[in-house]
Formats: sequence, structure tokens, C-alpha cells
Amino acid sequence: MSTTSHALSAFRHSVRSDLNQILGYAELLSQELGAGLSATCHTALADIQSAARQFLQAFGLRLGTLQTPDHIPQLLHDSAIADPISIIGLRISELLDTLPATAITDLQRIQQAHLNLREQLNRPLPDRRPSIGLSSPQLLSPSGAYSAFAPKEAALRGRILIIDDSQANRELLQRQLKEIGLESVAAADGGSGLRELSSGSFDCVLLDMVIPEMDGPAVLRAIRANPDWIGIPVLMLSALEELKEAALCIEIGAEDYLLRPIELPMLRAKLYSSISRKLLYEDCQQLGRDLAAANEDLKRFLMVASHDLQAPLHTLETEIRRIGESSEVALSLQLCGRMSALLQDLLVYARMGQVSPFLENISLDWVITEVRASLASSIEESDTEILARELPVVRADFKQMLHLFQNLMANAIRYRSDSPPRIQIAAQDRNTNWLVSVTDNGCGIPTDQRDKIFKPFHRLHGDEIPGTGLGLAIAQRAAEQSGGRIWVDSIPGAGSTFWILLPKP
Ligand code: ADP
Repeated sequence: MSTTSHALSAFRHSVRSDLNQILGYAELLSQELGAGLSATCHTALADIQSAARQFLQAFGLRLGTLQTPDHIPQLLHDSAIADPISIIGLRISELLDTLPATAITDLQRIQQAHLNLREQLNRPLPDRRPSIGLSSPQLLSPSGAYSAFAPKEAALRGRILIIDDSQANRELLQRQLKEIGLESVAAADGGSGLRELSSGSFDCVLLDMVIPEMDGPAVLRAIRANPDWIGIPVLMLSALEELKEAALCIEIGAEDYLLRPIELPMLRAKLYSSISRKLLYEDCQQLGRDLAAANEDLKRFLMVASHDLQAPLHTLETEIRRIGESSEVALSLQLCGRMSALLQDLLVYARMGQVSPFLENISLDWVITEVRASLASSIEESDTEILARELPVVRADFKQMLHLFQNLMANAIRYRSDSPPRIQIAAQDRNTNWLVSVTDNGCGIPTDQRDKIFKPFHRLHGDEIPGTGLGLAIAQRAAEQSGGRIWVDSIPGAGSTFWILLPKP
């Protein structure tokens, strides 16, 4: 930015800051004093507000045509600029005689901002900014103590942090916030704002775009970089000319922006929506934590239950065997067998959710050899042919890979078609992964069921082929715990291919 445009933008910023105070305090006075004010006072305050708005509009238009800061005093020759300033001055004088003593301090603030505005337009840059602030000498008398009024709408609650280098703006905002029922703390620069944020709890931050040293976007970045403050909404306080920067701030993580001069209804509305969203966010976070805790309890319960039920089941089986041989005994033993299989699968599934995987480099050839051995009797009995080309080494948990391939191969045998089962296992190189396929010539899976079969207890077959409905859920958990995934392609009646993507070592 050139020196000229920098000076012009600083000039714009401080003119808007003065107007912000004129409009803000005039609006506060009308709102707070309400019916207690005479009609003349109401009209004078309304005139101040409309003159300030007219000024703003004309100022925005004229400023665009200014070539150099030296031309600023020319603005006062323009009636669209000069007239509203005079009207504001006149109305202030009228109010001096008519406004209740309790409101005089606020009128002084309006007058101070008005004086600043005039001076700004008169003085040459760069030394144009008069020192403003409520600590400056009192301009009017008598100086009445300001009495706070109860907020008219009580639904909004919260604690707001204001970060703004202008003392007058800070004080105005604090008053405006009090008017809408919100507590606030103010900081004059980014560093002290961040310190306030770490030492207290806040529901929203109102952050000025232009503050010295660490500017608004830099403070915003620091806020967003801290995970503890992730849910705290930040509203940027921006001038019309700073909208591009405000939009950038929204991209960085600001919730919204408020245009200066800030008017109460907009301030209230934006704070209401930001604070409500913050509360919603906190509720969601809490819900997430509760759900995770409940889920943990459930997993633990599942593990304990499936483990502890196995011992009594074995005792029951032994006792049944002692009865002797009969069709009833055979049926009871068959039922015990199913229950035992279910408990074992439940235990494996629950354990996978509880215990972190032990990832190591493992040879899939070795895994398949182990699985072949454990399925030996059903392989032989069904006359299954297994074709496994040279398989790669993957990074995974060995036990989990045993479960995964055992379930896929056992399914390929159980859900076979009329011809003897044929299982082909192969692998393709996929950059950082291996894509392993397990293809069978079984009955196949209907298209609309291909995602569902990975859900626990979802079965496509009835009691004619017993099963627990947990095999593929276990396979999916095993693949995911190694950082991979699993899915299936199938031609109903011709067979299925299960694809497993597994990381390379
Ligand atoms: P289970 O085999 O114990 O029923 P799974 O989770 O292993 O449970 O499988 C879920 C369902 O998916 C099975 O009931 C079966 O209907 C279907 N299925 C699984 N593998 C195959 C396959 N290779 N061919 C055809 N259907 C299959």
C-alpha cells in the first residue's frame, strides 16, 4: 500500500470511528431514556442519527474521488458533507439545554466525537488525529452521572471480549453490550486481548480489523490456532472499505463481521446468532463425549459378557453330553455350538474395538497358510480349490489379518454354488498400498446388499446355513484398524470378489 493510500485509509478509519460514537451514543440515549425524553429531545437525537448517516453516505462517495490527503479539507466545502456536520452541532447545542442531567455524559461523548470529526476534516495529514477519549477534559457542564438502564430484552446472556485500540470505541461498545444485557471485558491491543482470552471464559470476541502491532487478522489467526478457543465465535468490527479484509477473516475462521458504525439491532442479532451457535457447538461436543463414554461402556460390557458367558456354556455342554445319546441331546449340543460361535465372534469384535492393533510387517502368504490349516476339514470335505499367487508383505495386525481372511475364506466355502468352491487370492500394487482380492465362485451377493453385509448381524441367509452375522463386520474392522478398507463386487449366481486395501510396510 502506498503512503498516500495508507494515509487515506487511516483517515477513513478514524472518521468512521467518530461517526460510530455519534451514532452509537445517540441511539443508546434514545433507547435508554425512551418515554422519559421530551419530544424535542427525541427529534434532536433522531436528527443527529440521520445527519450522521447522510454524512456517511456522502463521505463514502466523495472519498473515492480524493486523489491526495491534501485535498481532505476540500470536503468541508461540499454541502453534502458540511451540512450534516452543522446539523449535528446544532442539535447538540439544543440538547444541552433539554436533556436530563443523567444523560449529559453521553452527550459529551457525542460532542467530543463531533469535534474530532471537524478537526479531522480541517487538519492536514498526517498529524490530524486529535487525542480522543473520555479522560479528555469535560466539554460540557453540568456533568451528570450516567445511570445504567436494565436491558429491554433479557434472552441474550454471555460474556464478550472486545479488542479495539480506540478507548472511545471500546467504551461505547461496552455500553451497547450492557444495553442488550451482555457482560464485557475490553482490551486495547491483540496481545492483551489474547491474555484476557486465556484467563477468562468468553462467549464471543468482537475484534477490530485495524489495531496497531498485531492487527485484527493476526489476532484472529492466533485465536483460531488455539484448540481451547475453537468454539468461541469472533465477529470482526469492520468499516465499509475494509470488507475485503473482513471477508478474508471469515475464510480464516471469523463467524461474521459488524459494520461500523455499529447499530444496536444488528449488534444484538449477530451476537444472538453467534452465541446460540456457540452453545449448540458446546452441546454437540458434550453429546459426542457422552456418546463416546456410553460406547466405551457398551464395548466393555460386550467384552465381559461374551467372555464370562463362555465358561458356563462349556459346563452346560459337558453336562448335556453326560445325559447320553438322543436326538434331543444332539439338538441341544448343536444349539450350544451356535451359542459358543456367537460368543467367540462377539468377543473378537468387541476386543477389536477396545484394544489398539499391533501393527507389524506380515507376510500374507503366512496368513493364508495358517487359515488353510484352521479350515482344513471344511476345505477337504467341500473339495475346495485354493489358488494363492505369491502374496506381498503388508503392515497390519497379524491376529486381525487371520480373522479377516479366515472369515472371507470360510464364507466362500459356506456360501458356495453347486460346483465345488474355488478361491483365488491375488494382490495388485497400488502406490502406498496393496490391493488384495479374494474371489470365489459362490452364490454371489445382490447389488443392493453389498454395503449392508458388513453391518453386524446382517445376514442374507437363514438357518439353512448357520452363521453369527459378525464375520464381515469383523473383517471390516480388521481392515480399517490397519488403515485400510474392504468392499465387495459380485455377480449374483457367478461369485464374488472381496477387495481389501492394505498399507505397504
Ligand atoms: P455370517 O456368515 O456369519 O452370516 P457374515 O458377516 O460373514 O456373517 O456375512 C453376512 C452375510 O453375507 C452372510 O449371512 C451371507 O448371506 C452373505 N455373504 C458373506 N460372504 C458371502 C459370499 N462369499 N458369497 C455370498 N454371500 C456371502
